[in-house]
Amino acid sequence: MRLSRYFLPVLRDVPKEAEIVSHRLMLRAGMIRQQASGLYSWLPLGYKVLMKVQKIIEEEQNRSGAIELLMPTIQSADLWRESGRYDAYGKEMLRIEDRHEREFLYGPTNEEMITDIFRTYVKSYKDLPLNLYHIQWKFRDEVRPRFGTMRSREFLMKDAYSFDLTKEAAVAAYERMFVAYLRTYARMGLTAIPMRADTGPIGGDLSHEWIILAETGESQVFCHRDLLDKPIPGQDVDFRGDLKPIFNDWTSLYAATEEMVDMAEYEANVPEDKRVSARGIEVGHIFYFGTKYSEPMKASVTGNDGKETVVHMGSYGIGLTRVVPAIIEASHDENGIVWPVSVAPFEAVLINLKAGDAETDAACDALYAELTAAGLDMLYDDRDQGAGAKFTTAVLVGIPYQLILGPRGLKSGEVEIKHRKTGERETLPLTGAVARLK
Ligand code: ATP
Ligand code: MG
Ligand code: MG
Ligand code: MG
Repeated sequence: MRLSRYFLPVLRDVPKEAEIVSHRLMLRAGMIRQQASGLYSWLPLGYKVLMKVQKIIEEEQNRSGAIELLMPTIQSADLWRESGRYDAYGKEMLRIEDRHEREFLYGPTNEEMITDIFRTYVKSYKDLPLNLYHIQWKFRDEVRPRFGTMRSREFLMKDAYSFDLTKEAAVAAYERMFVAYLRTYARMGLTAIPMRADTGPIGGDLSHEWIILAETGESQVFCHRDLLDKPIPGQDVDFRGDLKPIFNDWTSLYAATEEMVDMAEYEANVPEDKRVSARGIEVGHIFYFGTKYSEPMKASVTGNDGKETVVHMGSYGIGLTRVVPAIIEASHDENGIVWPVSVAPFEAVLINLKAGDAETDAACDALYAELTAAGLDMLYDDRDQGAGAKFTTAVLVGIPYQLILGPRGLKSGEVEIKHRKTGERETLPLTGAVARLK
């Protein structure tokens, strides 16, 4: 992408309304624009990051055996009356009436709708286990939307729903999602710790919140320090096998949110020098809730004994539009964002130090074409601006690698590479550069 032809409205000044660093940086880097309280447009750079996050989530959900579909944002009130949640959900639900005076709502979550889909088509235990997910916008009329997309009213969520014949099978489904979540956050460069959590209005008795430690987090959490650098299961983890050993290994170390913590248990289980009591951001939440929805909504299958059995369910959420600022909270410095390569809007930026100089332009154009052809997601700062402004932009928007080329490098046949994260520099011969970077 040529920056001269791109839409990247970076802000010079620090926006006053933004209280936390990720919100300030997302505004300054031209990633988002608030349209009304808790409603955001995702500008091109922000949208690219969001889509990279989405792709990682999809790959890991699919790897674990979950199947993607798409349900609408608007749902019928009658469906929610079946589970009893239409009245119970309260003011966070945005209620809508159509021209025929029929009642609808903008979905805050999809347990009811997915249960309706399930009961329509699935009749036999032979079709289980089943895990269906979608990535769709949700609306919750938060009392206090704040921190940009960290707590917005409209937000993008991945929500998966598992269906099983028995509690034991449903717990195995839960363990598969647990492992998929470990891998998902790690691939985004995040250390997310699963913590025993309250189930809230979703209901149920087995639940973990996925927490990023950050001072700006809204909840207080308590955990064992060793959870912070525990190795993550590899790509070859067998989702058709027994994942209980991995689940047990992770959950044997104490970790709980403030609603669930028992201080005596925490202190008894965690040696003093291993205690972490900190603020955290909830980037995901998984639940096993048994027959809470399948029972009232009559979602059952015929078992191998010929009897009708109500299915056991779980649900598994990740807030994509919260994950993006959470990554920034975890990875930035005083000059801007430091993206992990996996979610960076561009992998590298080519900085033309003397745009307008025919020779430099020609060399940069050629290098850009070569890098792009080699499959690198490149930004090319070809703007007619001074080097200082170009470095400021590259650093602010957090591109992992800067490739710097000007008349001097051209003469010696070299391009300079600077790493955003470490500040390290290296010089590569222009001819071999592409092969090195691929
Ligand atoms: P919170 O405690 O922050 O209000 P929640 O517990 O109500 O979140 P869940 O119902 O567990 O949220 O939804 C699953 C995930 O969706 C959360 O873990 C979070 O990542 C995301 N999420 C929930 N509410 C919002 C919001 N208002 N803005 C952005 N993301 C959200
Ligand atoms: Mg909430
Ligand atoms: Mg919560
Ligand atoms: Mg939650």
